[in-house]
Amino acid sequence: MLDRRQFLRRAALALGGLALLPSPLLLAAPAERVHVVRSGDTLSAIATRYGVSVESIRTRNKLDSTRILVGQRLVIPAAPGASPAARPATPPAAATAPLAPVLAASRGLRIQPGRWTHLVVHHSGIETGNARAYDGAHRRRGMENGLAYHFVIGNGRDSGDGEIEVGQRWTRQIFGGHVRSRAINDCGIGICLVGNFEQREPGARQLASLHALLEHLRGPGLPGSRPARVTVHRWVDRNHTVCPGRRFPYGDLRSRYGAAPG
Ligand SMILES: [Zn+2]
Repeated sequence: MLDRRQFLRRAALALGGLALLPSPLLLAAPAERVHVVRSGDTLSAIATRYGVSVESIRTRNKLDSTRILVGQRLVIPAAPGASPAARPATPPAAATAPLAPVLAASRGLRIQPGRWTHLVVHHSGIETGNARAYDGAHRRRGMENGLAYHFVIGNGRDSGDGEIEVGQRWTRQIFGGHVRSRAINDCGIGICLVGNFEQREPGARQLASLHALLEHLRGPGLPGSRPARVTVHRWVDRNHTVCPGRRFPYGDLRSRYGAAPG
């Protein structure tokens, strides 16, 4: 699987490619691309970048020399072996991308209907770390099942911004270790956003992934007669924690899922 940075880089390239789609006047054939010359570009650098020869660019654009001008539009001929079908037709769907690891990890999983009744949102309280780092920390704290949460949503530091990491408590369908109450740990799915939301608000991508995950788990992701209840750590462990922090947008949980303390 691509790591998040590779994925973003590819997505950015795909989007950049779209931005450079030829205008109707340019008449580039489907496998060809158009490059708008930027300051510092040379013909050989452009050729290297697209994997074609300088000669092929010169021929295709009827250039007498290798001199190019900023703002000039060059049709880049198809790279040898490239075909239109080999290129992605559309960029990855942003709405479904964050859930991909969850869907992959859940394939073939036996989830007992009604097993999970609560979805408990946390923050990690620190800006660093990811599922693996927290797994190590929780084991060192004596939790034999490691990572206390079922899911961790990254902030772009030690995992992707909005990347959902799936913990083995989810794939093993076992109780969490994220709240004090044993009863809630038994029926509550722990979702941790990396960050300290006493200090700052969660990022847009993190929140988008959180909502994608919550909606999935309240819909097709969990079998049961009624959707699981969305709550947060501080509403479960009253007077014991500020998690997920005072700058977490609680109003969103109320308006979207009817979440409330108690
Ligand atoms: Zn918490």
